[in-house]
Amino acid sequence: MPELPEVEVTRLGFANRIAGARIEAVRVGKPLRWALAVEPLALVGRTVLAVRRRGKYLLVDLDEGLLLLHLGMSGSLRFSQDAPPAGPHDHFDLVTSHGTLRLNDPRRFGAVVYAQDEAAPLAMKLLGKLGVEPLGDGFDLALFHAGLQKRQAAIKQVLLAGDLVVGVGNIYASEALFLAAIRPTLAASRISNPRAARLHAAVREILARAVERGGSTLRDFTNIDGQSGYFQLEATVYGRAGEPCRVCGTPIRQIRQGQRSTFFCPNCQKY
Ligand code: ZN
Repeated sequence: MPELPEVEVTRLGFANRIAGARIEAVRVGKPLRWALAVEPLALVGRTVLAVRRRGKYLLVDLDEGLLLLHLGMSGSLRFSQDAPPAGPHDHFDLVTSHGTLRLNDPRRFGAVVYAQDEAAPLAMKLLGKLGVEPLGDGFDLALFHAGLQKRQAAIKQVLLAGDLVVGVGNIYASEALFLAAIRPTLAASRISNPRAARLHAAVREILARAVERGGSTLRDFTNIDGQSGYFQLEATVYGRAGEPCRVCGTPIRQIRQGQRSTFFCPNCQKY
C-alpha cells in the first residue's frame, strides 16, 4: 500500500511539470472507490495551479475547484507526454497541455474526487479528520505528547490511527518505534515526555529519509515516470521476523496488533 513517503514522492515527481497546464480531456475508466462527483467534461478548459499533499491524498488545485486523488491499495500515477492507449487497469486520465496524468489501479481502492473547495462536504469527509502532517511545522512536540497522554491504546495503534499525526503507516510505525526504543504494545498514555520527544523525532526522521530515498515500502511501487526498483528500504525491523536485530543481534519478533503485523526487537525495545 502506498504510504505517505510514496505519495509525497509521487507529488514531487509531477507537481512542477503539471502546474499551469490546461485540462484538455478527462477519461474515466472503471468505477473507483468513490465517484468523480463532477461531469468530466466540466473540467475541460480549467487550469492546474498546483499539487499539494494532505496525508495520503494529493490535492490538485484547479483555477476552479480541486481534485482529490488517493492511491488506495495498489494505485500509482504516471505523468507523460505521450501516454499509450489506456490499459485494463488505467481508470483515470487527466489529459493536459503539459501531459497526461494517469491513475493505474488494479484493485480499484483508489479514487479521484472533485470538490468545489476544501470546505465542501465531500472534501471535509475525506480530509476533515486527518491529524497533523508529520513533516510539517504543525507537528508540535507538546501537542503530540498531550495527545499521547489522552490515548490508552497501544502506541503502535495510536500512530496508525492517523488522527493524532497523519500518514505514519504500518511499516514506518514499526521503524519509528524501533528508532525511539519504545515497545509497540506500550499504552500511549504511559509514554514520558523524553520518550515522546524521541518518538516525535523518529517519526520525522523515518518519513523524511523515505521521501529522500524516493519511497520505499512497496516492491512494486513505481514512480511518476514508471521507473521502479530503485527504492529499497533498509528496514531495521519491518519484515525481519527471526532475523538478528541490526543493533544487538536479538531475533526480531513479529506480533499482530489490530490485524496488522508489528515488528520489534524485544531487547532494544524493552518497554
Ligand atoms: Zn536489538
